[in-house]
Amino acid sequence: MSQAFYLTTAIDYVNGAPHLGHAYERITSDVVARWQRMCGREVRFLTGTDEHGIKVQKAAAAEGLDPQAYTDRLVPAFQEAWDALDISYDRFIRTTDADHKATVTALLEAIQANGWLAEAEYEGWYCEGCEAYKTDKDLVDERCPDHPNREMTWLKETNLFFKMSAFEERLLAHYEAHPEFVQPAHRRNEVLSLIKSGLMDLSISRSTRSVSWGIPISFRPDSVIYVWFDALINYLTGAGYGTDDAMFERFWPAELHVLGKDVTRFHCIIWPAMLMAAGIELPKTIFAHGWVLTGDARKLSKSDESTTQGERDLSPLAIANTYGPDAIRWYLCSQITFGRDGEFTWERFEEIYNAHLANGLGNLLSRSIGMATKYFGGVPAPVGEPDALLSALCTKAVADATEAYTTYRLHDACAAAWTIVTTCNEQVQAREPWKMAKDEARRDELADFLYGLMESVRIAALLLHPVMPRKTKQCLAALGAASPLDATIDVATQWGGLSGRDLERPSPLFPRLDQLQTDSAV
Ligand SMILES: [Zn+2]
Repeated sequence: MSQAFYLTTAIDYVNGAPHLGHAYERITSDVVARWQRMCGREVRFLTGTDEHGIKVQKAAAAEGLDPQAYTDRLVPAFQEAWDALDISYDRFIRTTDADHKATVTALLEAIQANGWLAEAEYEGWYCEGCEAYKTDKDLVDERCPDHPNREMTWLKETNLFFKMSAFEERLLAHYEAHPEFVQPAHRRNEVLSLIKSGLMDLSISRSTRSVSWGIPISFRPDSVIYVWFDALINYLTGAGYGTDDAMFERFWPAELHVLGKDVTRFHCIIWPAMLMAAGIELPKTIFAHGWVLTGDARKLSKSDESTTQGERDLSPLAIANTYGPDAIRWYLCSQITFGRDGEFTWERFEEIYNAHLANGLGNLLSRSIGMATKYFGGVPAPVGEPDALLSALCTKAVADATEAYTTYRLHDACAAAWTIVTTCNEQVQAREPWKMAKDEARRDELADFLYGLMESVRIAALLLHPVMPRKTKQCLAALGAASPLDATIDVATQWGGLSGRDLERPSPLFPRLDQLQTDSAV
């Protein structure tokens, strides 16, 4: 059996609708999942929703709903958005799922059995926005800097504490021994300095008097588990901890957790300490991505005033439905350095759509197929040696993209694959195959060039498949080429894989923008 590859996104707190930032995390994770499947790994890809805690309890109460009914109503919007974006998750976990409750209980009992829990009295400022206690140095003007509009609450409780302070040295030793553990490197450095500044024990119980919407603690009456503690454990639930030993054996430790840069404290300190306390192996890599900044994106561009009233809909579902999932997937992966902040504006999005997708890849496919059909009635049989320039270009692109995908430099993987598209378009202009076609003596040269061109498009489509699964499939089908998962990527990308099968006259791979916007407005 192939080696397993288990990856997860963070789970979304269900207090609203999914936005572009949520979509970015799912898309980038999906790209990794798809690439690993193409490499022949047995992938398990987990995403889902975080549904417990005081915020959900209060929001539900405000609408006169039971919390379960409230979350049941909000969750489908997330699933619908991820399905529209072709996110190939294997499981959508909800922290209200029965097996999650079983896993949380099993983990907590393991930590308890190992002696890492203790009762203690605690009092302090509590931010309901963060669902966390705050120390004086955390506060700005006596408020939580992340929730400046909320009043802080002074809480005094006897709580169950996780002895996190005992894990400082072990965490530092793990970071030292595993430089790949937290990426990118600037996040790793931030987390390391947090650990070195000292860890405090963590209150992990909540009295049911204040919070009833949570998972009960099996060995402590009238209390539920702190929502963050419960949420983190979803990664174990998704691998079958405490419920499916064979699956857990197969998929744990996780290869990759993908999450936002705002939750590194939870994922890079608390989570590994919890696993250590239970005697469970740590995940291999935790990757923190940056923000998709959309500050200016809601401004209307002049060209839109005639066709749209008000603001353009930035929801992932609306974007996927209007432009197709691949356009936004390509934009977010190719235009934002994975691990850094990036920007989304409609102007830039449309520019990329036209330049890269419609005029770049779309045009290359249609002109290659057009010429091959016109001059040879299909894929020409190559006569001489492989086109030296194009085959070398592809060899380099395959090596560079493979290295980049494997090390989670998704933007570099996009760029490497894209060198094929730009160079092929340049080569068509430079070599002028239409002139070769007029000279019978150059027929072999023409056959070799067009074959090389289509072979290059095929290899580019395979390399781009994780990012644009839908369009690259169309592209490969139009070329009469094998599907992305028919062979592992190292074999599939070898030169000469394009057989002499019939070509399909493709409909435009990326229709013009004005056409799309008219269609979706109807
Ligand atoms: Zn807060």
